[in-house]
Amino acid sequence: MIRIVSREFRPGSQYGEGMDNASRHRVVVVGAGFGGLFATKALRRADVDVTLINGTPYHLFQPLLYQVATGILSPGEIAPPVREILRRQRNVKVLLGTVTEVDVEHRTVTAIAPGTSYKVEYDSLIVAAGAAQSYFGNDQFAEFAPGMKSIDDALELRGRIFGAFELAELETDPAAIERWLTFVVVGAGPTGVEMAGQIAELAHRTLPGEYKNIDPSQARIVLMDALDTVLPSFGDHLSTAALRQLHKIGVEVELGTKVVSVDSDGIEVETVRGHQRIETFTKIWAAGVSAPSLSRQLAERTGAETDRAGRIKVNPDCTVPGHPEIFAIGDTVAIKALDGSPVPGIAPAAKQEGTFVAETIRRRLAGKAEPRAFHYHHQGSLAQIGKRMAVIDFGWIKLRGALAWWLWGIAHIYFLVGVRSRLSVALNWLWIYTRNQRSARLITSAGGESAIE
Ligand SMILES: Cc1cc2nc3c(=O)[nH]c(=O)nc-3n(C[C@H](O)[C@H](O)[C@H](O)COP(=O)(O)OP(=O)(O)OC[C@H]3O[C@@H](n4cnc5c(N)ncnc54)[C@H](O)[C@@H]3O)c2cc1C
Repeated sequence: MIRIVSREFRPGSQYGEGMDNASRHRVVVVGAGFGGLFATKALRRADVDVTLINGTPYHLFQPLLYQVATGILSPGEIAPPVREILRRQRNVKVLLGTVTEVDVEHRTVTAIAPGTSYKVEYDSLIVAAGAAQSYFGNDQFAEFAPGMKSIDDALELRGRIFGAFELAELETDPAAIERWLTFVVVGAGPTGVEMAGQIAELAHRTLPGEYKNIDPSQARIVLMDALDTVLPSFGDHLSTAALRQLHKIGVEVELGTKVVSVDSDGIEVETVRGHQRIETFTKIWAAGVSAPSLSRQLAERTGAETDRAGRIKVNPDCTVPGHPEIFAIGDTVAIKALDGSPVPGIAPAAKQEGTFVAETIRRRLAGKAEPRAFHYHHQGSLAQIGKRMAVIDFGWIKLRGALAWWLWGIAHIYFLVGVRSRLSVALNWLWIYTRNQRSARLITSAGGESAIE
């Protein structure tokens, strides 16, 4: 039974039937991202009551957030309601709430939601709270160079990107036009590369012909990174291919470039050539992740070690040291694969960990031997660069160009949650592929709040 230890919301508002077996083991899952959702689904036949608490009512498919930001997809297409996904699973209750505290002694979590707060007891806890953006100690950059972790972030960026073209059209001062038509993306990992590539495609393929005073194809798209390579995790061969493809679609790539300052009108960087300033209203941060506050708090409460990004160093079986009843998975944790390499912070890793900890709980309850260590199986790395351009590293084969692009598309449609999302995304992609038109260009604030101060 789920016992609400204290609550400030209306009695009986969400707690229905089907979960009132007092003897059942209670599993609380924090986070309905890839890790939490897959853990919950893998518990569907287990003799447990699951309470899934998520900060939003939806499951977010983060890999396609940049397509929301660049007007290809609508938010609903990558963010189906968690309740809908789990509607047939009888042993789960979904609660909206942000978990603010884990009381490891009394085995309760406290969550808040607008106008209310509540506590839920657990016998096993799975923390899958994802990651936050990191500005490497320069949080003041966030105002002028937003990151992309949520639907709100993506919509803010969409406003800034499409708004930049609108506001450029209104300008008469050539310097101001240039500043509106310069886009800087910081971070040349998959997110930054995909984002820069899509802004370039937008400027060069979608928007030309729509404006009278400006030529969108004159837009300057700069992708920068402190490292000296793009997509470093893909290896030299594919990094070089990706760099070539980025150049081909008109993205300027500045490597070995460290951001030292960001303001509303530009960005300042240190390079081997010295200090430089780029005048631009639109800066996008796609570099660095840090652990969410819940993960730091849990580490403090349990005495668990964390890595530099604040991620909990869990045991090989994903339990928090000293607490076999608490599992932490996904981007929230630092865990090593069997060969000693760090498990990457990507969706398949979070899914596999979710399934793994669910199996551990099932085996525990059945009195069977538990698996000692999580085995990460790397299925491959994929990044789209532009139309018919992508790179894929499956380990045993490396692909680039058009074939990689088709496989990238098929894989993403396959990994999306829900048939409706898959069909809708496929249709949108077909539209942009054949017509170069984007169906989700609605913006409500041109240029973004801080960009037009
Ligand atoms: C822009 C972007 C692009 C990416 N591209 C790729 C890609 O191409 N391929 C790939 O494999 N991976 C990609 N990733 C990484 C991938 O999305 C993550 O590794 C994966 O989502 C991690 O899953 P998770 O369950 O740990 O966290 P998430 O999926 O982030 O889920 C965390 C969930 O926890 C909830 N939450 C957080 N804190 C609380 C709290 N205190 N209380 C309640 N709920 C809480 C959040 O609302 C969220 O629903 C990308 C990530 C981003 C941001």
